[in-house]
Amino acid sequence: MPDPTSTPQAPLIRFESVQKTFDGETLVVKDLHLSINQGEFVTLLGPSGSGKTTCLMMLAGFENPTGGDIFLGEQRLNSVPPHKRNFGMVFQNYALFPHMTVEENIRYPLKTRGMPAAEADRKVAGILDMIQLTPFAKRRPGQLSGGQQQRVALARSLVFEPRLVLMDEPLGALDKQLREQMQLEIKHLHEDLGLTVVFVTHDQGEALTMSDRVAVFNDGVIQQIDTPSNLYEYPANAFVAQFIGENN
Ligand code: ADP
Repeated sequence: MPDPTSTPQAPLIRFESVQKTFDGETLVVKDLHLSINQGEFVTLLGPSGSGKTTCLMMLAGFENPTGGDIFLGEQRLNSVPPHKRNFGMVFQNYALFPHMTVEENIRYPLKTRGMPAAEADRKVAGILDMIQLTPFAKRRPGQLSGGQQQRVALARSLVFEPRLVLMDEPLGALDKQLREQMQLEIKHLHEDLGLTVVFVTHDQGEALTMSDRVAVFNDGVIQQIDTPSNLYEYPANAFVAQFIGENN
């Protein structure tokens, strides 16, 4: 819970009047304003095609806004390449290397950035332990369940102690039970490590249980951004009321 007596901090991330078009005509993200605080868990929720992933890709640096600015603190991010942003990323299809063991998958990004072997060993062992993957260190992804594979992807996204972790439908490929278990694990990591997380999903229940705040998207526009309970009790318009209500 935020301390009500403290001075409000400057947001970690700000989208200011951000727009995106892929064909020069249709805006898939329209004049978007969004602030995300350090340590917050913010979910972009909305139907398929509403612009959530495009926003996440602009934040990651894989797409550029065609209008407006994105800031990290005071730094304008628009032209900063993805590898200089130090954000962790987790996607629905885990993108693990099938020929490498769990340990090697997690070590790979450290190796490519030239971390000395002894330091990389310590780092990998610490992360395996934290995500409870130590018993699986020598297995290859094909020898793991979907949930375990997603935990490896999660572990790999944390190796550089990122200031922000971006997750795009990370649990979309898992069955209901595993999905709920992973939701809890991600929440625990968020709390224990003090991570700032931007999470994309089209699943209302997932958004409402996991997030500090939820931005409800429709047609490239944030319809409302608020806490789960306020969205539920005080929907800003008919779209939000209906979309949030579909959860029940
Ligand atoms: P969501 O994540 O909410 O499902 P997206 O951000 O993926 O939505 O897509 C928003 C809109 O932008 C969709 O109409 C989609 O077809 C379009 N779009 C996304 N990426 C591209 C691209 N690389 N080229 C052209 N159109 C795209």
